[in-house]
Amino acid sequence: MLLAGLRAKFRLAMLFISHDLAVVSQVADRVAVMYAGSLVELASRQTIFKAPAHPYTRGLLKAVPTLQTDRARPLQTIEGSVPPVTALPPGCPFEPRCGDRVSECARELPPLVEVAPGHWARCPVINPSTRSRPSV
Ligand code: SF4
Repeated sequence: MLLAGLRAKFRLAMLFISHDLAVVSQVADRVAVMYAGSLVELASRQTIFKAPAHPYTRGLLKAVPTLQTDRARPLQTIEGSVPPVTALPPGCPFEPRCGDRVSECARELPPLVEVAPGHWARCPVINPSTRSRPSV
């Protein structure tokens, strides 16, 4: 691939921004997932695609068709839409759309916490030890 060749030739770091998860899976060493202006998950490519932690990342990956996807059924989607940045909810910005939400999710922006070595996620429900920590 052209980008990989240029990166190797000139010994560059590359920040690649995309909505195309198939391309990301080919290009990235590490993946940062953003939602409504917030970083919600950061990990190696392998971890993001094989063991995603954040409910938004999991929802994104479920929406990607694969060779095993039943073509007779509609693709999975994430209900709702992204809030405008001028009207973000006070807590987790994904809370109105999240099937895993609990009442505390609506109170404050959760901190980004290392859930495993090199794997960061912004979700106190998957990080129970962080429930009482202040947001950052
Ligand atoms: S903090 Fe709550 S609403 Fe936000 S992703 Fe986690 S479970 Fe869902």
